[in-house]
Amino acid sequence: MIDNAEVYMKIFDISLPVSPKLPVWPGDPPVELELVSSMDAGAHDNISRLACSVHTGTHVDAPHHFLNDHRSVDALSLDVLTGPALVIQIPESVDLVTAVILENAAIPSGTSRLLLKTRNSQLWERGEKEFIKDFVGVSLDGAEWLVQAGVKLVGIDYLSIAPYKQSIPTHTALLKPGIVILEGLDLSAVSPGSYDLYCLPLKLVGSDGAPARAILIG
Ligand SMILES: [Zn+2]
Repeated sequence: MIDNAEVYMKIFDISLPVSPKLPVWPGDPPVELELVSSMDAGAHDNISRLACSVHTGTHVDAPHHFLNDHRSVDALSLDVLTGPALVIQIPESVDLVTAVILENAAIPSGTSRLLLKTRNSQLWERGEKEFIKDFVGVSLDGAEWLVQAGVKLVGIDYLSIAPYKQSIPTHTALLKPGIVILEGLDLSAVSPGSYDLYCLPLKLVGSDGAPARAILIG
């Protein structure tokens, strides 16, 4: 007998496609994904080489990114990276996710993994190829609210959790207590609600971050 709950489970891929077309942070190296051995060119196999920033597309930030403390991405707990997660919709009119916005979002206490769906997701939906500076990020007081609320992982649907040119305060406030930051999510196809998150960053030894495949099941 098939369990009905299983029948209605859906897997949502919330990862961005990694290719040279992916927008990258200004100044970061663009994605290079190219064949170094090509069957079209007569080789006996195809082998590609990838070069990119570890903060490419859907990726995780480790404390070492802003704290220079050697708490690196390979040491992040899989118990935090996987498990129940709540997706909340931040109203489209919101430019900055502040403590007040989070306070009014009716986030149940005990929420460990929180994914913020903002108007940023529309950028991925429409296939925006350029880096957009006026994306929605989390303010310092928003970050402090998340710390106080006991959130262990926070995700957002653009390439940084912090507003453009204001990276340090938000990142530092979250990374100091070891909150995992998941950036570059595409939540355009996901409705607000409860899911199971599976986020598996590459096990890059000593790294400040790593690209990840992230999915929601629910
Ligand atoms: Zn990052």
